[in-house]
Formats: sequence, C-alpha cells, structure tokens
Amino acid sequence: MTRREMLQAMGMVAAAAAVSPGTALSKSMPKAPGGGLLKSDAHCHVVDFIQGSEGLKSLIGHMNKAGVAHCQIMGLPVTKKWDRVDRKPPTYYLDNDSRVYFYGSTDVDVARAYQALPESERGRLHPFLCGFNPTDQYAINHVRRMFDWFPEVWQGIGEIMLRHDDLTALTLGETATADHPALDSVYAFAARRNLPVQLHSNVGNKRLGEPVYLYEVENALAKHPETTIILAHAGVSRSFSIPTITADIKGLMTRRPNLWIDLSWVVYEECVAPGGHVDERWVDLVETFPRRVMIGTDMIGHWSEYAAAIGKYDPFLAKLGPETAMRVASRNFLDLVGATKRTPATADPGKEEQPLQQRLSLLSSDVVEV
Ligand SMILES: [Zn+2]
Repeated sequence: MTRREMLQAMGMVAAAAAVSPGTALSKSMPKAPGGGLLKSDAHCHVVDFIQGSEGLKSLIGHMNKAGVAHCQIMGLPVTKKWDRVDRKPPTYYLDNDSRVYFYGSTDVDVARAYQALPESERGRLHPFLCGFNPTDQYAINHVRRMFDWFPEVWQGIGEIMLRHDDLTALTLGETATADHPALDSVYAFAARRNLPVQLHSNVGNKRLGEPVYLYEVENALAKHPETTIILAHAGVSRSFSIPTITADIKGLMTRRPNLWIDLSWVVYEECVAPGGHVDERWVDLVETFPRRVMIGTDMIGHWSEYAAAIGKYDPFLAKLGPETAMRVASRNFLDLVGATKRTPATADPGKEEQPLQQRLSLLSSDVVEV
C-alpha cells in the first residue's frame, strides 16, 4: 500500500467514525469526548513565534484527549526578533515593537519532526509548508526546494501570512497581499498537485468597518480558479467589526467555488459566537456551503489550551444539521488532504505562470531543470 493509499484509507476510517461515533476505531484513534463528533483540526501551528514547541508527540496526546483524529500541522513563516534594547525576551509577536522576519527553516523543523514519528501517527498529521516571504518573486523556489527535500511530506501550502494588521506592521518589507504576483507561481504549483493553499488575508481593517481588502482575495481566486484557497478565519482578525461580513463572505463563496474558509481563532469568539451566543447568520452561511467550511485550533506550539480551542465549536456544531456538522467538524478537512483527488505532479510546465529557467541545486553539481 502506498503512503497516499494509506492516508486515504485512514481518512475514510475517520470519516466513517465521524458519521457513526460508535464505529470501531483502530487502537491509535481517539474517541470523541461524551460521544460527540470526532474532529479534524484544520489549522494548527506546531511552533510559536520564536519557533519553539512542545512537540508532535505531546500534540498527539492532546489530540487524543480532545477527540481530534486528524490535524493539520505547520510552522510559522515568521519569527520574532529579540532586539538589543529589549531587556525582556519577546515570545509573542505583540510582546513589543521588535520586528518579525521570514524564517524558512520552520518547514525543515516540521518535516524532520514529522518524519521522526511512527507511521501510525504520521497518518493523523497533515503537514503544510509556509516558510517563505510571499512578496518575494523567488518564493516558489523555496516551495520547490521543500518538495525536493521532503517529497513525501507536504499535503498543502500555508498558512501564508498576508494582510494581518499588527503583524503586517511588524513585518520587515513590503505589504503582502493575496494577489501579489509573487504568489502566482505558488498558486499554479499547488493547482498542478491538487494541494490546498491556506491564506491569512484580512478582508478589512480595524477602523473602517468595511471589507476594503476583499478584492485582493477575489483577484487571487479569479486568477487561479483551479487552486483551492482556504481563507483562514474567514478573513477576520482581532478587533474587527465588519457588520456585513457574513454577506460579504457568502457573496465571495458564491462567486468563487474554489474558496474554502476556516473558522479558527478570534473569528469564532468575535463573530460566530460572541459572548457564547451563536449568530444565526453564520449558521446560514455554513449551511449554504456545507462542504467548504472547517474548524481549527490555531494553536502555536503549546498545547495546554488545545482541548478548549477545539471544544469551543460544540455549541456551533450543535446548531448545524447532522450532516453539515459532521462535515465541518471533520470530513471537509479529510476531503481536502486525505481522500481528495490529489494526483502526482504531471509534466505540464505550460501551466506554470513563472517558468523558472534553471537553478543550481546544492545537493548535486548538476543544473536542475524545473
Ligand atoms: Zn494561524
């Protein structure tokens, strides 16, 4: 059995278990607490903003306790600098005014940690790569390099850090946007391999109350209709107030069938269920697109809050129809990374927006044709 077939088979197992919680599971699979839905975590960073982590073994233990069968894993594409003037070392990007910078080794750390796990545990984790500067027109070279180095690891690309209010302000270099030309070749690469691409791209900002940057995401979706793009947090960020957000996202998902969303992080507390009360407009949105919405913890390398971060969705899932709830809780993510139509890369260089001529490989003395 190939690795891909194994993943697909495991995806099927977990999906079946999500439909019928009583279905027999292999010994390594968790049971959902209280007989609830077995979940998939579609948004999980396994390192923090200084690239530290409690590790994947520990993550799996917390997944088991929280009833999470499958989990996306990724690094963080930026790392926080400890400036000379700061007596207290920062650990979070908002701890002080020092800048963050793009950190490619995050992907190497993720791949090596993933490869060190036994096969049964690897089958439950789904690595995405993210460690590149999305305004660099050489970004695709990093993506290709990671696939060269770890060809059997990657199942998606992201979370690409684009418009992100305070994080953008603290990031050295030009503002990153979903429709930046540097990403064209990344989207094309992903489309050829049926890899989803997850973006953090705020659709608005903290002051205006309007989706002033929605067009950037739509530009990318329109230009790359064959690329599945996941808009993390439904385009919302901390301290956002866009009264029309559900209508805006609904319109975008209607126009662009290649758009998926995840409801991880603050969009849940601030929009979907403020004060613990589920907003019916989000129920309507999710029921309109039951196959393109996912949940996730958005943890960053430390797991003490893991069970709470995935359990918080239970009141919302309870408002959905049973089929939709099962899909949002788990099946949609599995469709995306495990049981999807993913095929090996085809020899079709005509689809690459940015043919990269030739480049030198450190691992061989040959010039590699790409
Ligand atoms: Zn995230």
